[in-house]
Amino acid sequence: MDLNTDSHHGDGTRDIFGEDEDVLHFCFCDRSFDGGTKVDVRVPFGAGDEFYAENIKGLFRERVEALRPYMIFWEYGYDATMGDYGSRGISPEAHILMAREVKKIADEVCGGRLIIILCGGSRKDIANYTIPRIIKILCEGG
Ligand SMILES: [Zn+2]
Repeated sequence: MDLNTDSHHGDGTRDIFGEDEDVLHFCFCDRSFDGGTKVDVRVPFGAGDEFYAENIKGLFRERVEALRPYMIFWEYGYDATMGDYGSRGISPEAHILMAREVKKIADEVCGGRLIIILCGGSRKDIANYTIPRIIKILCEGG
């Protein structure tokens, strides 16, 4: 299953897996859509740091538990952070909150199988803050 948390809609991934019911594509973006295993959660500007983590704890976990995928593939982008090009007004801490929840779900439902790739984002200071902390969470459950 694929989780996309950068600011923009994951249209390429959706095109590839759009017809495949066995692949959950869960995307935070500017759209609102619920097609079972294809979900878009619209992120209003200023939604707050808890918004992503709360949706991951709620709807995302619900869909992962229903599908029980082999692994979670997380397209991690930080461009939604305030001051970056896709800003939705969240702070760098929002990514840490979501990483804890994604790790928990991967451990509990997917036997710890979690792959993260770096996607959108341009600010080095945000990368320098978030990436080492996310790696620490992956290593220690932090
Ligand atoms: Zn989307």
